[in-house]
Amino acid sequence: MSRWRGLQASLRAARGSLRGTQRDAWPRGHAPWSRSLSASTALRNDFFKDLETQLAAARKKASDALPGSSWSPFEANPNLPPERADIVIVGGGVVGWSIAYWLKQKERVREGVRVLVVEKDLTYSQASTVLSAGGIRQQFSLPENIHLSLASAHFMRNINEHLGVLNEDPVDLQFNHSGYLFLATEKAAHIMEENYSTQRKAGAEVSLLSPDQLRGKFPWINTDGVALASYGLQNEGWFDPWTLLNAFRRKAISMGAIQCCGEVTDFKYTTKRILTSNGDEMDLRRIKSVKVQLPGSLQYQPVECAIVVNAAGASSARLTEMLGVGYGGDAAGTQLPVEPRKRYVYVVHCPDGPGLDTPFVIDYSGVYFRREGLGGNYIAGTSPEEGEEPDASNLEVDHQFFEDKVWPSLAHRVPAFEKLKVTSAWAGFYDYNTFDQNAIIGTHPLVTNMYFATGFSGHGLQHAPAAGRSVAELILDGNFTTLDLSGLDFRRILAREPMLERNIV
Ligand SMILES: Cc1cc2nc3c(=O)[nH]c(=O)nc-3n(C[C@H](O)[C@H](O)[C@H](O)COP(=O)(O)OP(=O)(O)OC[C@H]3O[C@@H](n4cnc5c(N)ncnc54)[C@H](O)[C@@H]3O)c2cc1C
Repeated sequence: MSRWRGLQASLRAARGSLRGTQRDAWPRGHAPWSRSLSASTALRNDFFKDLETQLAAARKKASDALPGSSWSPFEANPNLPPERADIVIVGGGVVGWSIAYWLKQKERVREGVRVLVVEKDLTYSQASTVLSAGGIRQQFSLPENIHLSLASAHFMRNINEHLGVLNEDPVDLQFNHSGYLFLATEKAAHIMEENYSTQRKAGAEVSLLSPDQLRGKFPWINTDGVALASYGLQNEGWFDPWTLLNAFRRKAISMGAIQCCGEVTDFKYTTKRILTSNGDEMDLRRIKSVKVQLPGSLQYQPVECAIVVNAAGASSARLTEMLGVGYGGDAAGTQLPVEPRKRYVYVVHCPDGPGLDTPFVIDYSGVYFRREGLGGNYIAGTSPEEGEEPDASNLEVDHQFFEDKVWPSLAHRVPAFEKLKVTSAWAGFYDYNTFDQNAIIGTHPLVTNMYFATGFSGHGLQHAPAAGRSVAELILDGNFTTLDLSGLDFRRILAREPMLERNIV
């Protein structure tokens, strides 16, 4: 029996005993309310005292049923998730809500699939989605990533056909169409050419520019050290991440997806020992229910489910640890290689900086910048060197990092940036895949009903629309039907065969 049912049974029992007490204390015709008021003051006081005692006992029973809870037996808690869902998505960031939307979109019978999205922080104060730079590009080196970007760009072009809700405002992503501009040194120019050819083959519109062409197009750029540049002609730019997340959420909820604010803190699962063809013994796990802890409370609700989707972003490895994955030998010992890595974004003001035609520039040093609105504002940043990762236990900004690692390259590339002012800054967590900096999409070989959609490492926002569709296909159709993302599943990690992306920002 679930705790909720147990609780209801205790309540019924408590209410029954309350009624029993009233009957026992005052035989028919002698109940205090049938007497005259003046004659019965003492009795009435006793009655209320007794009632209070009974109520206190009922409350205690209820709170015993939910350990540590301050739940009152006479108020239903509207924030409790349902007792059962077909699919529980852990993480209500852009990836989680995109999956929820596509699951509802693809269900064959209306209300046929009960989808629950569990999000621990509805303010999204630390979610990668809302702290991202909002960019989308086609310029990747892996065909999978290029196809994901192209499909997502197509989705965003037609966003209101997908995410429009009757009688609600249309979605305005505030999309800024502008190409990414990658710069390469002499040494790396051949890699840029190879990437360009992969991108063209995949259908992306990209052009290569010589330093002369670069100067002609963007006269404010200093081309020192640049041997080649690649510039996106279509389907690139930046947009408002919060609007995309909310649009997915609003639409999915309008289609029947359920939202719950709570944290998944544990799973109930069964284990079955199997013998592999090599004669090794392995434990297959199957999740039966997720434990959802309500915010600011010890109250929790187990939710029985058939499938769990791990869309918990930078925290997704914690979920697999709860299942015992990452401990023990062989496959069971292989951890989900996703961890939070802190990245700073600096907002700078430079009245003499480049204007409306500023692309999203990725310097060969790793430093990037783009316009932020009009009026001489830009955002800029870079990833730290391997081994110099900042402390990821908080989201504090290191301002010295801008002085030491960002500004010198900015000023070198755009001399106008010699004079600028940092007006604000923030930090966010990359959902960083330490194995090969690419998404992990699909199931785990040992956890039969958990699907991953995590590890996007700095390109999850732009890939969310297409990745969400792919995960929904995998769950409902049993295989990928639009984009073949089978190369991105967990098996590559077990096989130690990385899918390295060369254009990581
Ligand atoms: C500074 C920065 C710049 C970026 N720039 C870009 C960019 O330009 N373009 C791009 O495409 N991507 C960019 N990214 C990456 C992108 O933001 C992420 O890849 C993407 O947002 C991941 O989405 P998500 O939904 O998986 O994660 P999140 O948005 O982090 O959502 C995961 C959610 O899961 C919730 N959660 C975690 N654990 C639990 C639990 N146990 N129970 C319940 N809820 C839980 C969290 O509260 C969180 O809200 C950037 C990231 C950063 C930090």
